[in-house]
Amino acid sequence: MSTVQRDCPDDETRALFELTRELADKELRPRADAAEREGMFPRDAFRILGRSGLLALPYPERLGGGGQSYQTYLQVVEELAGAWLAVGLGVSVHTLTCFPLATAGTPEQQQRWLPGMLGGEQLGAYCLSEPASGSDAAALRTRAEADGPDYVLNGVKAWISHAGQADFYTLFARTSGDHEGPERARGISCLHVPADTPGVSAAPAEHKMGMRASVTAQMIFEGARVPADHLIGEEGNGFGIALAALDAGRLGIAACATGVAQAALDTAVSWARERRQFGRPIADFQGVSFLLADMATAVEAARALYLSAARRKDAGLPFAPQAAMAKLFASDAAMRVGGLPRRAADARGQGAADRGGHQPGPADGDRQVPGPSCVSAPLRDRDAVEGLEDGIEAGDVGEGLSAPEGRDRAVHQLRESRARPVAPQGEGGRGLGTLVLHEDVRAGQQRVQDLDTVRLPAMRAGRSREASSTRTPDSGPPAADSR
Ligand SMILES: Cc1cc2nc3c(=O)[nH]c(=O)nc-3n(C[C@H](O)[C@H](O)[C@H](O)COP(=O)(O)OP(=O)(O)OC[C@H]3O[C@@H](n4cnc5c(N)ncnc54)[C@H](O)[C@@H]3O)c2cc1C
Repeated sequence: MSTVQRDCPDDETRALFELTRELADKELRPRADAAEREGMFPRDAFRILGRSGLLALPYPERLGGGGQSYQTYLQVVEELAGAWLAVGLGVSVHTLTCFPLATAGTPEQQQRWLPGMLGGEQLGAYCLSEPASGSDAAALRTRAEADGPDYVLNGVKAWISHAGQADFYTLFARTSGDHEGPERARGISCLHVPADTPGVSAAPAEHKMGMRASVTAQMIFEGARVPADHLIGEEGNGFGIALAALDAGRLGIAACATGVAQAALDTAVSWARERRQFGRPIADFQGVSFLLADMATAVEAARALYLSAARRKDAGLPFAPQAAMAKLFASDAAMRVGGLPRRAADARGQGAADRGGHQPGPADGDRQVPGPSCVSAPLRDRDAVEGLEDGIEAGDVGEGLSAPEGRDRAVHQLRESRARPVAPQGEGGRGLGTLVLHEDVRAGQQRVQDLDTVRLPAMRAGRSREASSTRTPDSGPPAADSR
């Protein structure tokens, strides 16, 4: 169970958070590990959440939504993701798919489709990315050609969450224009495509390293026909709708990442209190408590950042750059925080076996180190790199010390080296541990450079989009999109 103390502005919000925790504890947490192992998409879980009103929280009550602020909605997503990331992510994706209809649909369209979408009977998928257009989403090639009373859809969408499981697809397709050149964002339209439309099919699911219960696959549109009244918003204005949806969607991903990080922290704290060495809980060793303090700080900062962006959204202020920053910071925090307890497991000589296998939770005698698969499995690729830090053993840095003392000393050095400027290779290093630490700092600096070159153009594009009251692609597509 999550240990987060949440600020509740009123009793209704408090009741909502309690309901969410109850559902997470009873319906999600107990099933997550087995379903992740088997790659089983939890379709029924979304029905339960829908009937409980949790799939429609940020939409107005007049449309059948929950009328909740984004701050409240995101904290619900965080709780769900902490119990089972595939479900928290699914709620965020479904919310994204409803955005075009809720914000740009006609009253007739909203009346016709929104009750089922917001009530939980229907689950959505958001079809923007394509094999040849990811970050540069405006370069999409899927076509929607007017043919009598219909649009005829042809093309392939890639990496689609809920592909083959969804009841409807919020599709972005080209009704005019070309996928190349500075004008490529023009001529993109948004369409509501029911899953049972002939000519709509899903490719086999991608094999992922984690979050295997959340299906990700290509969607294929082959001569699929939808009536012209399935167009959402004006023809050719779909790209602005797509970007506006993604601005809000980034906050959902930030909340999911925070939930994963919180789950890792809860797991680590409970283990550090329970596991005893040298006659006391390992939490009593200063090195371990330093790690826990770092984890708790990162989680709190991630939560504060997404809530701060959500407050701006709730107040009607521009929030796109802040949402991108929240997603960046929270996902990095989840990777870092999730890696620390695994390092503790590795330090016990068990993590390496776990990395080669499929499931987290390495055996410790007759018990398992607690660790929801939503925490460790997605981290495995990063873990393979950062796990090198576990090579810092007592012998490298603390000759003559007992194992715990040596490790405490190593962790202390790790913390110190992160605060120091980078030393030239071979300088000031002693043993494997120190060398790895300098590499770690260099990698951090590289990432800061990446941030300047990759993220800032997207943020600036977001800022200028917010400044404009109507979202038109007149100024051309942004340089990069940071979904
Ligand atoms: C699990 C999962 C679920 C997903 N679900 C969905 C979904 O439901 N719907 C959907 O539409 N899409 C979905 N996606 C697709 C996702 O949004 C794309 O992966 C994303 O847009 C990035 O595109 P890409 O992977 O093709 O990377 P690319 O665009 O090919 O980028 C590759 C690399 O180039 C860098 N790069 C790109 N442009 C620039 C630039 N201008 N400057 C500097 N560097 C740049 C990127 O940072 C990245 O490191 C999903 C992806 C995953 C992995």
